[in-house]
Amino acid sequence: MAVQTALSTRKSRLPLMVGVFVALACCTISAVSIWRELSARTADLRSAEVDVANMARSLMQHAEDSIELSEAILLGLVARIENAGTSEPAVQLMQAFLEARGATLGRIRGLFVYDYNGNWLATTEKVQTRSLNNSDRTYFQHHRANDDRKTYVGDPVRSRSGGQWIITVSRRFNKPDGSFGGVVLATLDAAYFTRFYNQYDLGPNGSVALLNTRGVLLARSRDDGQLVGRDMSDTALFRQRLNEARSALYYFVSPIDGLQRISAYRASERYPLVLLATEAEMDVLARWRSGVAIRTGVTLSLVFALAIVGFYLVRQFAARQRMAAAMAAQEADFRLLAETSSDMVTRIGLDELLRYVSPSAGRIVGWDASQLEGTPALAGVHAEDIARVRALVSDLRTGAQIEGRVAYRTRHRERGEVWLESCLRVTRDSATGSVDSVVAVSRDMTEHKDLQDRLADLAATDALTRLANRRTFDERFSAEWENAGASKSCLSIVMVDVDHFKSYNDSYGHDTGDSCLQSVARALKSVVHRPHDLVARYGGEEFVVLLPNTDPAGCAAVAQQLHDAIAALRVPHIGNPSIGRVSISLGGATAIPGQGATMAAMVKAADAALYVAKRAGRNQFYMAPRLGLAA
Ligand code: GH3
Ligand code: MG
Ligand code: MG
Repeated sequence: MAVQTALSTRKSRLPLMVGVFVALACCTISAVSIWRELSARTADLRSAEVDVANMARSLMQHAEDSIELSEAILLGLVARIENAGTSEPAVQLMQAFLEARGATLGRIRGLFVYDYNGNWLATTEKVQTRSLNNSDRTYFQHHRANDDRKTYVGDPVRSRSGGQWIITVSRRFNKPDGSFGGVVLATLDAAYFTRFYNQYDLGPNGSVALLNTRGVLLARSRDDGQLVGRDMSDTALFRQRLNEARSALYYFVSPIDGLQRISAYRASERYPLVLLATEAEMDVLARWRSGVAIRTGVTLSLVFALAIVGFYLVRQFAARQRMAAAMAAQEADFRLLAETSSDMVTRIGLDELLRYVSPSAGRIVGWDASQLEGTPALAGVHAEDIARVRALVSDLRTGAQIEGRVAYRTRHRERGEVWLESCLRVTRDSATGSVDSVVAVSRDMTEHKDLQDRLADLAATDALTRLANRRTFDERFSAEWENAGASKSCLSIVMVDVDHFKSYNDSYGHDTGDSCLQSVARALKSVVHRPHDLVARYGGEEFVVLLPNTDPAGCAAVAQQLHDAIAALRVPHIGNPSIGRVSISLGGATAIPGQGATMAAMVKAADAALYVAKRAGRNQFYMAPRLGLAA
């Protein structure tokens, strides 16, 4: 029982464990998948961060190189002017020099020389310089107002000569007395930078912008001139970040298009320039995002499938467990009933081996249950009964019958043969409904059977003589009549009557009369040997002998032996006048049934023959004429 409980407890955890395992597997797969996606996302962002930082570094280098190139040229021009002065011939030489230089300027758009009033002195542009004045330009006013001789990078302006956006790089030159002599200017096309920046792939929404430290946009990738000159000084970059670090990486929402951007900025060490490279987070994550949908879909399907399989498994396990519990409970009930019963309860498998035997087997058949389990169920059944028992068990096994009852003899270990009565019933597999065993409840019927046999015996026997009684004779006579009719054989009877028996009683007393009748009965019985012959007490001192398959001659022969057997007793009988001993008279009759003869006619014929024998002087046999043939 303890083992059973432990077993069922262990079983009851199984569905839970399977459920937990499946849930854990689902969670793990989901978690790993989420972690993988987040790592991939982070990796993409990190890679973009490195890209924009590198971009900011190298494009700043490019911008510095451009300014440096301009600066070198301007330095040469300033030295030349301060040497040669601004006399007319010197200016003409300068103009000629610039025109020659203009063809090899590369990224520099143009070179200009203005006098201290802002009038154009010389330029690489092919314009009439005389009438033009640039004293209104910021860079001009800057140099006129400041006597430092540093290179000045101005705000972008619209070119007076071409109308396009230009970036101005300028230096002051002095008169020989050190006073303000004018300004030399190199211009860079904003469009040049835009074209240069467009060569880099920063995604559909990425951008590169070159600004000066005052926050004015000098050039921007993918710009057709709409954005140049825009004042960005109010952004966090200029208000805060640049004060904190000369270069950094940060995320921000662009005021231009409202997109979240990864951006790297770098401020020049040498010039008042800032380069800002950005990529839209949306673009960086586009590839990841398109993959994530497919991968998440696949993972979710997997998790979903796993969950469904898990769910069905758990349900299956739980159902199986419930069934097992129900079966265990049923089995426990069965055993409780079986083990408390005084009857022997056995369970017979489809192989006819004993699967279970209750303890009362010890009392009923003399064997321990454990000795019987696993042995053939029908071993020990009496040879005459085995066919009946086997037929019933076979009917039950095949489902032809669901229950049955059979009485049979079997061997008891110590007491020999015992009578058992068994009630058998099939049990069915709860899952398939098919017969899986036969349960037999067996009871010892030996005493009952003995009693029954004794009662039957009593009912069939005459109490005084122990011969068959009249009723038994009638039954046997009728059965033999049938047999003889079927086999067309002769059937004979002999009626026997003790002579002068009334007088015997009178002479010797009734008790002696009874003893005499017992002796006569024994003597008569000793004559008859064939199994189907029967000697019966017909009533009083009359007897009848039934002789199946016996013709008139045989009948006469038996009658003679009967007569002689009584004579041989030599019982004195003074009331029997002629011989002084007990004698009998006999009347025989033979018939073949079905030839017009009847049982009643046959008895009547035998009686009549007996009467003839009496009338003829007693102590003799008379044979009735043969019945049936005559009729
Ligand atoms: P018979 O047959 O020779 O003509 O003369 P009987 O004296 O035998 O004639 P009956 O058949 O008239 O008499 C039968 C007697 O048998 C009557 C009865 O007292 C006696 N008898 C019948 N049954 C028993 C019995 O069971 N015990 C004893 N002691 N006597 C019996
Ligand atoms: Mg009589
Ligand atoms: Mg008589």
